[in-house]
Amino acid sequence: MTPPPKKQDAVLDAEAREKIHLDILKRTGAYHANDHILLPSGHHTSEFIEKTLVITEPSFTEGLGAVIAKHFAQWPIDIVLSTGPGALILSHCVARAHPSRPLLLYASKGIAAGKRKVTLPAEFNRLIRQGTKILLVEDLVSTGTTLKLLIDLVERHGGQVVGIGALWRRTKKAEVNGKPVFSLVSRDFPTYPPEACPLCKKGMPLNEEFVRRREGHKPPSTKEKGEK
Ligand SMILES: [Zn+2]
Repeated sequence: MTPPPKKQDAVLDAEAREKIHLDILKRTGAYHANDHILLPSGHHTSEFIEKTLVITEPSFTEGLGAVIAKHFAQWPIDIVLSTGPGALILSHCVARAHPSRPLLLYASKGIAAGKRKVTLPAEFNRLIRQGTKILLVEDLVSTGTTLKLLIDLVERHGGQVVGIGALWRRTKKAEVNGKPVFSLVSRDFPTYPPEACPLCKKGMPLNEEFVRRREGHKPPSTKEKGEK
């Protein structure tokens, strides 16, 4: 008989898995480390995740989605719910790999009177009923605001949030509104005001690429031709 794994082994195992997931995100070009990066807030950091790039490699997204599905495989799930294009693609992969064969729904994000909101398309309303078991999927969990809105939306319909699966959790606590968060990577990268930045003190050149990309250039778009 093999002895049960020691707690230390479990921690090592989690660390090894996290390293693999970080390497995958690095290969998509989404994860930057060992740099000196200017953030839109004006703070500096050594690490950064560009979440738009996370889902650009379908085979990676499928692999990562399957890991989240496996974690939640022991619980029956009726619906996987997400919001935002990146999270929706990931949640498709989670739903596809979960043994309960859950449905896939999404809410759309918006802003009303300066406050963030999530809205369920009318066609989906009847699908969330009393006791419907729901897994929320998110790409990046920072403040958890979007997840709190999704939890609210589900509970208003009488549904039950079983858990939250995410690619990356920046929050210290592995829960949002009492719902457990399972994430492939759990890391918060410290950010510094310029005057207290250890990287500035070392004289490392500042990488302003991410801020320039946001502010300097309008995103390319193509418009329909013709009268209107
Ligand atoms: Zn700095």
